[in-house]
Amino acid sequence: MTKLTNQIVISLAKEFGFDLIGFAKAEPLNEEVKKLDVWIEKGFQATMSYMEKNIHNRKDVKEILPDAKSVISLAVNYYTDHQYSNDKSKGKISRYAWGKDYHLIIWEMLSDFEVKLTELDPEFKSLSYVDTGPVMDKVWAVKAGLGWMGKHTNVINKEIGSWIFLANIITNYEFEYSEIITDHCGSCTACIDACPTDAIVDEFVVDSNKCISFLTIENKGEISPEFNGKFDNWIFGCDICQDVCPWNIKFADQTAIKDFHPIEGKTEIEIDEVLNMDEEEFKARFAVSPVKRTKLRGLIRNAGFIRKENSYLTSNDRNT
Ligand code: SF4
Ligand code: SF4
Repeated sequence: MTKLTNQIVISLAKEFGFDLIGFAKAEPLNEEVKKLDVWIEKGFQATMSYMEKNIHNRKDVKEILPDAKSVISLAVNYYTDHQYSNDKSKGKISRYAWGKDYHLIIWEMLSDFEVKLTELDPEFKSLSYVDTGPVMDKVWAVKAGLGWMGKHTNVINKEIGSWIFLANIITNYEFEYSEIITDHCGSCTACIDACPTDAIVDEFVVDSNKCISFLTIENKGEISPEFNGKFDNWIFGCDICQDVCPWNIKFADQTAIKDFHPIEGKTEIEIDEVLNMDEEEFKARFAVSPVKRTKLRGLIRNAGFIRKENSYLTSNDRNT
């Protein structure tokens, strides 16, 4: 049996492909849950009612793993330097969804990593999460010193920016805890200024009802005409607030994981192709892609909205 130290776990995490790792004490997230409650009271979760559930688990990871002592927070860089053509006949796909579904990739990495840690010390118990389940992944990443919460509500790391996927391991093991990184947004408001729908209603507060990312992915209803002329051809997700962030502009670096590169080199999809797509084609094209989350119905709705939006912009141009 090997006593797991921070150093052993850090070097193994790197070996298993994680770019960032930090350690936080498994304490109740009292302040963070209060903020979440206020956000929910204001209705900023839109129709994501799952955000209202299992608040007690979100607040205290001991509700999930009773003898939890620590949270190991991990991040994987998914940035690649492919770009968009900005051809108006194509809809833009958010960077995180260009390649293979990150859940599939990171679940496998986590599983191998946890198996190794348990082999070294059978006393090591853990439960891990990637963006699913009642775990406040961004909060733990900040507590574990991976970065700070940007005003656009994504975690930013000083060395690689915010194009990162987060994962957390709740464990019964004690570690030395990482130092929290102070806020480095300073007086910058680039993300707030660039958001085309004014979805960043305050620093560190996003109203999902207005966010293109929510409207094109989680949203099951129609897209309101109030957003006409604001989507800039985003068909799945939106990266504007992260694209303009100086930390990404200066420090984003290529991922080492090939599966995060665009499938068939595609970062966009023809609007016409989507409008004529059937279930079979959709399944074949997006079988291992995060795009399947919005289902064919959602993708067609988004394509239809962009098509209408572009004719709205053209007619507005003609009238001015
Ligand atoms: S993802 Fe797009 S719409 Fe949402 S807050 Fe960022 S810039 Fe605004
Ligand atoms: S764009 Fe500026 S304010 Fe927004 S997250 Fe980046 S550094 Fe912070």
